[in-house]
Amino acid sequence: MLRYGLYARKSHDDKKLTEKSTGEQIAECKALASREGLAVVWECEESKSAKIPFVRPHYAELIKLIEKGKIDAILCWHVNRIIRNMDEGGHFVQLWIDGKLKEVRTPHAVYRTGDNILPIVLEAASATQSSLDLVHVVRRSHDGNFRAGGWNHKVPPGYRNVRDPLTTKRGMVIADPERFALARKAWDRMLTGTETVWAVYLALDEWGYRVRETLNLPERPLSYSAVMGMFRNPFYAGYVRERGEMVKGRHEPMVSLDEFRRVQNILAKRSFKAVRSYDHDYTGFMTCAYCGQRVTAEHKKISTGSWEVYHCSDTYNRCTQKGMSVAAVEQDVTNLLSNVRIDPEALDIAGAEIKRSLTARQATYAVRAEETRASLQLIEQRLRRLTEMWISGLLTEEARYQELEGEALREKERLQLAVEEIGFDTERRLRNLARALDYLKTKDTRFAKARPARKRPVAQALGKFLFYGREKVIKAEVRPILREIVEFVSHFSGPLEPPKTGSRSHEKTTLVESFHLGGTVPNGIELPEPLEKALLEDDMPDLDCSESEYGLLK
Ligand SMILES: [Zn+2]
Repeated sequence: MLRYGLYARKSHDDKKLTEKSTGEQIAECKALASREGLAVVWECEESKSAKIPFVRPHYAELIKLIEKGKIDAILCWHVNRIIRNMDEGGHFVQLWIDGKLKEVRTPHAVYRTGDNILPIVLEAASATQSSLDLVHVVRRSHDGNFRAGGWNHKVPPGYRNVRDPLTTKRGMVIADPERFALARKAWDRMLTGTETVWAVYLALDEWGYRVRETLNLPERPLSYSAVMGMFRNPFYAGYVRERGEMVKGRHEPMVSLDEFRRVQNILAKRSFKAVRSYDHDYTGFMTCAYCGQRVTAEHKKISTGSWEVYHCSDTYNRCTQKGMSVAAVEQDVTNLLSNVRIDPEALDIAGAEIKRSLTARQATYAVRAEETRASLQLIEQRLRRLTEMWISGLLTEEARYQELEGEALREKERLQLAVEEIGFDTERRLRNLARALDYLKTKDTRFAKARPARKRPVAQALGKFLFYGREKVIKAEVRPILREIVEFVSHFSGPLEPPKTGSRSHEKTTLVESFHLGGTVPNGIELPEPLEKALLEDDMPDLDCSESEYGLLK
């Protein structure tokens, strides 16, 4: 087994780029060692520049240890950490040729004695680093920021990304002054253990929580899945997680670790209960129309047996316990579902039309994305060139360098965001459309045929259900995406009701008919703005995937 000496070096002449780097070099090498099971018997870090020969005491020690046969191999971040001048290079090469040094290992390469010696010498001796190298440099500062508890990505609700006022090159996470308190209030609700995620989601909307507007999206309420994601994200307890690693973050935690764990327990317990009692469960999605609390199911016992009744959970005893039997609930829900009626033929045509229009637009989006990507590449090139100029000494004024780099980085960030959102929007619209069309076509049969446990998600996909316990009636607030599609389809088919008088019947020469006659839908049917908006902002659940999307499971 080879005995490794870990050697890390920080060179002053690299200025900003390798600042604070020895710690990171060591961390990366150690990670490699533990991953590969390498025996590290000696380690050191040195901060002397390697440009003047023989001024590195640790390096000299390392060489001596190899000569004496105490160490067989070197572990370092890059071979240029070892050799920076030809004098030492010669010595190093001799050890290599003598076979005393058997291996040089870096996170990105392995060099062994049997190998050709040229690559390692060339690589070590090339003072100007390749662009590949620069990628690692960028990556390293990214990793370094993470190890120091920084977060390099978009923050979850309640927080904001800002630039570090001390150095524009670094991002910081702060509590969002407008949203942090509301998000904390949501956690408090969840911590009571009596509220569903759905209820908290509705409450957040009511309290006026809105997601900050971005380049392409206006201000909007938080989505249900975002709320769910929030309660599962350890970021709120002050931790950051990346590529499987979790460290204590630098940002202000919103909840304590204990509170976070309690919510995880609440969510876990609830999914267990939900599985067990799912058979009769319409409780999760109906809200009391009088007070907004959720509706629960209860078994009532009488001398002749028991029956199940749905009523307002009425936590504070201020509402009503009057309610409906499970059969009545199911009947009402069935009716509400079938009330959203749509001519299947017209739906097909309208669906194809919407899709065509979106796809046509996608082509323009694709062009825009391509252009943005091209400018992004230019910026990256500019950044690389800047760095090269700085390293090679062509650019010597530090303030100027930082200014230029900051400019380029800001532009890069803006473009990256733009690229992501362009792709994301169309994809999301098309996905929502496909799900909504499928739902509109299949909802009634799905609901009728579903085993009891699957009825609820089918109903829930329709929208929000308001429960009127006293009047014993349920009303539905159809979700925007379905409402808008139905509205759009009505242009293609006319009203679905049979014509009341003969005089109206001629008006019903609908687009469906004209489609059949002429073979095409007239051009110039613009997608109505509310439809487009709903396709982007609404979140149509996928009924064919796991139940987790609809409620309390997982
Ligand atoms: Zn109530």
